[in-house]
Amino acid sequence: MLMSRLLAPTLREVPAEAEIPSHRLMLRAGLIRKSASGIYTYLPLGLKVLQKIMQIIREEMNAAGGQELLLPIIQPAELWFATGRWDDYGAEMFKLKDRHDRQFCLGPTHEEIITALAKAEISSYRQMPLLLYQIQNKYRDEIRPRFGVIRGREFIMKDLYSFDQDEAGLEESYRKMYDAYTRIFTRCGLDTRPVDADPGAIGGSGTHEFMVLADSGEAELVICQSCDYAANVEIAPAAACPGTGEEPRPMEAVETPAMHTVDQVTEFLQVPASKLIKTLLYLADGQPVAVLVRGDHECNEVKLKRYLGCTTLELADEATIAEVSQGPKGFTGPVGLQVRLIADHSVMNMTNAVTGANRKDTHLINVNPGRDFTTEEVADLRVVTVEDPCPKCQGKLQLCRGIEVGQVFKLGTKYSAALKATFTDENGEERPIVMGCYGIGVSRTMAAIIEQNYDEDGIIWPMSVAPYQVVIVPIKYNEEEQRAVADELERNLTAAGISVVLDDRDERPGVKFKDADLIGFPIRITIGPKGLAAGNVEISRRDGSFREDVKLEQATEVVVNLVQEAMGALEPK
Ligand code: ATP
Ligand code: MG
Repeated sequence: MLMSRLLAPTLREVPAEAEIPSHRLMLRAGLIRKSASGIYTYLPLGLKVLQKIMQIIREEMNAAGGQELLLPIIQPAELWFATGRWDDYGAEMFKLKDRHDRQFCLGPTHEEIITALAKAEISSYRQMPLLLYQIQNKYRDEIRPRFGVIRGREFIMKDLYSFDQDEAGLEESYRKMYDAYTRIFTRCGLDTRPVDADPGAIGGSGTHEFMVLADSGEAELVICQSCDYAANVEIAPAAACPGTGEEPRPMEAVETPAMHTVDQVTEFLQVPASKLIKTLLYLADGQPVAVLVRGDHECNEVKLKRYLGCTTLELADEATIAEVSQGPKGFTGPVGLQVRLIADHSVMNMTNAVTGANRKDTHLINVNPGRDFTTEEVADLRVVTVEDPCPKCQGKLQLCRGIEVGQVFKLGTKYSAALKATFTDENGEERPIVMGCYGIGVSRTMAAIIEQNYDEDGIIWPMSVAPYQVVIVPIKYNEEEQRAVADELERNLTAAGISVVLDDRDERPGVKFKDADLIGFPIRITIGPKGLAAGNVEISRRDGSFREDVKLEQATEVVVNLVQEAMGALEPK
């Protein structure tokens, strides 16, 4: 490929709208262009990278026994009514009507469609296990599209669905996918970490997210410094904190004029935040519930939502607070509160605590759970902290951030039961198919690879996903000898199965080097008059691990070896 013919519009300026390195570099290197918020065009170099990633995914999915198919993007609403997700998905779903006023959506995911297919096509246990996958655009009207293709509204996903007779079969399919994901990300040059996660709106039981550790990640994770425990903060369990063993004192009301935040109250009363009980009023599917957590803890709404089994959860408005607590916002407390009360388990171990009195400018001190208020509903409802021990080995936890590039779910029979996708088992009995689903964000993976592979000059593509493996840069392509050498190297390398760009542009060498570094071709061959006089070209690797003058006759072989070596280093162990 000649650089002069390639549509690779590199930018020198840093685009103002891009907040994180991968987004900036994808724009600057001419990989993508924005069409609308969260909607992008992939330019030729960007598409090449995507195709490489998709090829790796296809190879691993096929090796694991997956069969590729292609499901429709436009999906009839009826299927989504049947599973209840037409409403659950809410505003994130792009909905549309046809000319006959029938409702459809642009697929945000494909469980419904594929389960309907399974219902029609699978009738016997003999047809399973079955693994079906596709690579296709997904549509989600994300509330906050950002970071370029990391959170798009149109994005590319690989989604595989497994169909098994029973739980044991599902376990086997799940393990196959888990292993395949590990291989895929390694081959893409990504360092990922599988973490325990929340199944969210998809439902089902077990699930892992594959996270790329990066400061720009939107997901908050805890990882153990001693063992392999890693979990999304959304789900990481937090043990009940032990009590202090103090003697309970008599409860008293105290004046706390205009003190309605934890900080104000604790400073005013000269007590640590761990002495305070926060009372949070929520509306869960429209019904008020009060949630108690210690003042220094944070309520974990994902855990709370799971505990309640509700679809919507929001903090109550001031009118609801006034109605339920008979007092103003900031002074709500559990004593005498007439509403469903749920306590985080650390709260029940507290003694002589401070709470709101459900009265303006008043708090209660020496409140003792069990004595002054009580509830049967006690659960782990808070966000884990680094003070908490690792749930697996009691070691020290560390907080970090991650980009979720993939997720594997055990769905069980949630969708097959709702859509009546059954099969006849060995004993002639009809049972729902046991399903799993497994997604990889293909376009997000491309950005995540950049987040882990760049420097101040640009992208450093891993060999396996580079748009081209080699760039040949003659200092002056118009000069006859340089041109002859460049052309010959291009021919030889192409014949050896290596993808090459030849920078034939009539630009200053500095411009060509800058573009080569920005786009991030893994290997550069530089051809200049000085080197040629000695019969040499310079071969260097973008990651800085190799830079040598090489005899012209050996150049092809050296490059082929470097490519093979780099590919070998990305092979899963
Ligand atoms: P997130 O929590 O980041 O919103 P999700 O849990 O909604 O993701 P899944 O439904 O599990 O995502 O989709 C499978 C994969 O698709 C994710 O692991 C992620 O890599 C990718 N993905 C999800 N949403 C987006 C998006 N808006 N833009 C790009 N990729 C996405
Ligand atoms: Mg997810």
